[in-house]
Amino acid sequence: MHSPAKKKAPFGTRTTAHLFVQRYQEGAWGPGRIEPAAPLALAPLTHALHYGASIFEGFKAHRQPDGTLALFRPLDHLRRLNRSAARMCLPQVDAEGLARRIAELVRTDAAQAPSPPDALYVRPLLFADGAVLGYGTPTSATLIVALVAVPALFKGGVRLRTETHYVRAAPGGTGSAKCAGNYAGALRAQELAHAEGFDEVLWLDAHERRWLEEAGGMNLMLVRGGALSTPPLSDTILAGITRDSLLALARASGLPAEERPISVDPADWRDVSEAFTSGTAAGTAHIREIVHEGRVLFTRSEPGPLARQLGERLERIKFGLEPDPFGWRAPA
Ligand code: PMP
Repeated sequence: MHSPAKKKAPFGTRTTAHLFVQRYQEGAWGPGRIEPAAPLALAPLTHALHYGASIFEGFKAHRQPDGTLALFRPLDHLRRLNRSAARMCLPQVDAEGLARRIAELVRTDAAQAPSPPDALYVRPLLFADGAVLGYGTPTSATLIVALVAVPALFKGGVRLRTETHYVRAAPGGTGSAKCAGNYAGALRAQELAHAEGFDEVLWLDAHERRWLEEAGGMNLMLVRGGALSTPPLSDTILAGITRDSLLALARASGLPAEERPISVDPADWRDVSEAFTSGTAAGTAHIREIVHEGRVLFTRSEPGPLARQLGERLERIKFGLEPDPFGWRAPA
């Protein structure tokens, strides 16, 4: 028997005062409402609790210099929610309409949004809410959007190790969907890695256990031969919005950027000079060390120059401290 790790402070335990709630039944969405945050009433046979048809998103609203809040790439996140929904047989949302309602929710609870560098995390959750024991395609669903004030994670950098026993995602599976089961299935490996003093695991491909894919809640970014480099997307990797943003920022500033596989073979790491995480919650945290089967594949004590430059530029764009040529900020 094992007990859950207790040493880490939980990340985000209180929502703001309101939720956005919308129900889908008999092929149509009902009117969504902004309501006082309250526990959900769920039937014991709720489909999502038994069979796992539950997906989510995560993005942030950032306090701007004029005091207003701006959401970072909300439509791209809601389009990804729709791709996850398609994989899980959940209904599609109207991404534009929902983005407007989320902006309204953020304005409603704006006073509860923290100051930079902290931010307001936006968590849309869509799950099959039908009370039915029979296993089949969901016919009704609940969408909620909750807001949680969060700090920036992993300020001191992270140590990662590859996971050689457990697998997160296999070709044809659900790895590229942001579905609840992916995270439940990853917990045991994360728990073991924490017990060994690592912050997260780096997942390997299921077939050869040779190719690095991503970490539990973030993509992997390297500086390799002077280029920004990240493993290519597939159906076993979540297409991170931060990943896409960093590739775009690098290319726009004339830095070569490549999507290229990287293996656990030390020869692949000879020209890797920097490594960092890429994700909404984790940001671009410095990776201090990567260990594979007890051997150090990569180590660097301080963040490298490109990681710093790209990470800071992205944060400045999010917080409205420099122009946004990409159209990523959406006023709330
Ligand atoms: N991979 C996984 C498995 C994740 O959960 C996340 C967080 N959404 C990411 C990567 C990073 O994605 P994003 O940059 O869109 O937050």
